[in-house]
Amino acid sequence: MNETVPHRDFVRQIVEDDLGSGKWKGKVQTRFPPEPNGYLHIGHAKSICLNFGIAQEYNGLCNLRFDDTNPEKEDTEYVDSIREDVRWLGFDWEDRQYFASDYFDQLYEWAEELIRRGHAYVCSLPPEQISAGRGTATQPGTNSPWRDRSVDENLDLFRRMKAGEFADGAHVLRAKIDMAHPHMLMRDPIMYRIRHAEHHRTGDRWCIYPTYDYAHGQSDSIEGITHSICTLEFENHRPLYDWYCSALGIHHPQQIEFNRLNLTYTVMSKRRLLELVQAGHVNGWDDPRMPSICGLRRRGYTPEAIRAFCRAAGVTKNNATIDIGVLENHLREDLNRRAERRMAVLDPIRVVITNYPEDQTDELEAINNPEDPSAGSRMVPFSRELWIEREDFHEDPPKKFFRLAPGREVRLRWAYFITCHDFVRDEAGNVTEIHCTYDPATRGGDAPDGRKVKATLHWVSARHAVNAEVRLYDHLFFREHPDQVEEPDQDWKSGLNPDSLKVVSQAQLEPALGTARQGDLIQFERLGYFCVDPDSSTQQLVFNRTVTLKDQWAKARTKD
Ligand code: ATP
Ligand code: MG
Repeated sequence: MNETVPHRDFVRQIVEDDLGSGKWKGKVQTRFPPEPNGYLHIGHAKSICLNFGIAQEYNGLCNLRFDDTNPEKEDTEYVDSIREDVRWLGFDWEDRQYFASDYFDQLYEWAEELIRRGHAYVCSLPPEQISAGRGTATQPGTNSPWRDRSVDENLDLFRRMKAGEFADGAHVLRAKIDMAHPHMLMRDPIMYRIRHAEHHRTGDRWCIYPTYDYAHGQSDSIEGITHSICTLEFENHRPLYDWYCSALGIHHPQQIEFNRLNLTYTVMSKRRLLELVQAGHVNGWDDPRMPSICGLRRRGYTPEAIRAFCRAAGVTKNNATIDIGVLENHLREDLNRRAERRMAVLDPIRVVITNYPEDQTDELEAINNPEDPSAGSRMVPFSRELWIEREDFHEDPPKKFFRLAPGREVRLRWAYFITCHDFVRDEAGNVTEIHCTYDPATRGGDAPDGRKVKATLHWVSARHAVNAEVRLYDHLFFREHPDQVEEPDQDWKSGLNPDSLKVVSQAQLEPALGTARQGDLIQFERLGYFCVDPDSSTQQLVFNRTVTLKDQWAKARTKD
């Protein structure tokens, strides 16, 4: 995947051409049209960045429209979360928030109009027979026996459908187009279904609901959309949307299709994400392993990183899957610039500095962010007993292990050189304590005599350490393409990574982290980027690992 930003993608090119030719009289009106039946994910972010981005760049406007035509699956919980997520991503619909359900009256009027013009009829076939009558891609469909009902009969039945006289499924309203049309979607598609269901906004006012295909194009038309940007799978719906607008003689937006965003190690459909939530494979939509916007936010992603990634992902006419490492690299780039550095030990082992007085404490200066001098510095306490990472010590170091070992000197970050002269084992033979001496002349981390060490370790003063829970996240799926299972009857959930969450319950942190707050961007030196989790169910501070410093999966892949 090429990460360079294209100068101008084909969608922006169309917008510029239209501005040049005066096609829409200089107007650019886009919209982001989610169905409020789930939380937004990173794929939606691409569509949001594209629609709102184009409006910003070309002095246009972008609406937020909820395509809420399916009462059973939609909910205000989703409406609220979508609003929050679009805002968080940095976009503003101002006063242009709309709902397809706002247009139910108009859509109904238009349906009657289509009946009057002989373009729609009430079909009383059971649903299976309607499907069967559609034919196949290679065979034409067959006309419904109800296709030639009179206008009066159609109007009467349609009004009685609306009045609630019939049970669900008894009748539908269909567009009268062509049962032999090469596009299956044009074979007398359904416009209205009877559904005695409460709608999250219109309550029980309606018992017939427009299909998405009948509502979507006209909703765009009502809003005066110029460029109706959608994903490639809607390409074959375009003739139908055009047909409705032409049959009604109303404003005709130009539909432009672009490729969906897919990521490796990720499922992206709302239906599947909902299944993960409902089956308890994750802890809710905002679980930091989810590709939902709220999950990414809780994980510590920044809107800047997501926008930069969406821009780089680009828009084309070819569906492809982007490596999740590309997304993570955009995050690293952003966090590297902005995150302050701190020291934290996740798997602590005790180090005793035997030539350091018991009751003494040193305050050592540590730079907050080498990438940003304005971030300043802080003081870190040093004392006789310290924590370092267990894996930074080896009693019998293999070749290429340059960190702490008996007789070896290393640097403690911002502090001193220390040399290991002994260690203590428990009965089981595990090392429990390492004994070192420090060289006071190396204060700050440099030897005045110019001698070098091969490793710099992070550490925390044991007496001053703050305890925290740290949650280490990894890809939710171990399979690179979770949607492509190996056996035909295998479940996609079989690709779930059993190690996607590891909890460290007793991490030892430098004291400055005790006051860390939600929203702080922090790098734990040598370990990765972390953020404070909003979880208030534990007494402790909880940190999430946002992303490691390097792409560990890339390493694993090149080894294979
Ligand atoms: P899903 O298939 O994940 O359930 P959807 O397309 O049904 O998504 P909508 O609420 O209809 O979800 O999507 C709102 C807008 O976001 C649509 O214009 C859709 O094309 C776009 N969108 C959805 N998923 C992606 C994706 N993976 N990449 C780019 N755009 C997307
Ligand atoms: Mg959809």
